[in-house]
Amino acid sequence: MSRLRLTVDLQRLGRQSGDLMVPWSDNYNPLGRYPVPVITLAGAPGPVVLILGGVHGDEFEGPSAIMRLVRYLKPEDLRGRLIMMPCANAAAFSASSRCSPLDDSNLNRAFPGDPDGSPTAMIADWLQSWMIPQCDAVIDLHSGGKASVFVPCSLPQAGINPALDDANMALATAMGLPVIWQLGAQNDDRSVNAACARAGVPCVAAELGGGGGVDPMITDMAEAGLRRVLHHLGVLGSALPLPEGANGARVVVFDPADHVMAPARGLFDRRCRAGDRVAQGDLAGWLHFPEEPARDAMPLHFPQSGLVLAHTARGLIDRAEMLALVARDVV
Ligand SMILES: [Zn+2]
Repeated sequence: MSRLRLTVDLQRLGRQSGDLMVPWSDNYNPLGRYPVPVITLAGAPGPVVLILGGVHGDEFEGPSAIMRLVRYLKPEDLRGRLIMMPCANAAAFSASSRCSPLDDSNLNRAFPGDPDGSPTAMIADWLQSWMIPQCDAVIDLHSGGKASVFVPCSLPQAGINPALDDANMALATAMGLPVIWQLGAQNDDRSVNAACARAGVPCVAAELGGGGGVDPMITDMAEAGLRRVLHHLGVLGSALPLPEGANGARVVVFDPADHVMAPARGLFDRRCRAGDRVAQGDLAGWLHFPEEPARDAMPLHFPQSGLVLAHTARGLIDRAEMLALVARDVV
């Protein structure tokens, strides 16, 4: 039984805003609750759709796109019910941090959660046990955060069962981002995608840029993608066409050895961008050692041909950091 309480009534029509109240007694807030904002828009009878942003608190494009829907959509425009949580791990969001400062936890590694656990574990449990099972679809918007930058891509999970695999792929295709990154059955089972798979609820996640800021073109893509998914689900009547280049590649992350990892601490002089097509042996960048001025720079090459899904947003990097994430085409 969850200890969390919603201050909005999910059955009520119209627009509501309130909070999911998370009880957590600490030095700052010994008797209070930490609020997680929730906005609901409910119109004519139809599907229930949960839209999550800020599962990681340093990813801002998704929350921006959600807040545009909050601003522009009216309940009377909808056939169905939208439940929007633009900063799902609100304590992490208020700290602009991937993980929550309350418990140092990553919500997308916290499922199925724990009703008696830390704040992040309690939010995961509430989503897994109570919220997600009531939904007809879930959309979970991410980006690279402060640490990395992704080519905009939708992430459907496959390998669950044929009907759910197809429903997930249909959501991803409707989103219409440049790349579909297909998650295999080996996807981390502590994620939102995995929580939805366990509940039998269709889900698509997205990666939308990153670097800890908001790119206007990517936020436009995210907003249009949300509207197309809501049209696909029958919630919104008006259709938006797919843009040129939508769903232009369908890829999987195949082998950890495909990626460019940092062999040493140094300054990464990057020579690639997210979305680049690369061939095995191409230059990914140079590693400079400004702290060791006599040491020669080291070239770093791509170990595998493919699509650069993401690169680090950092200049100074540590040994074993991921510098470029390389995906292979689905064949
Ligand atoms: Zn994320």
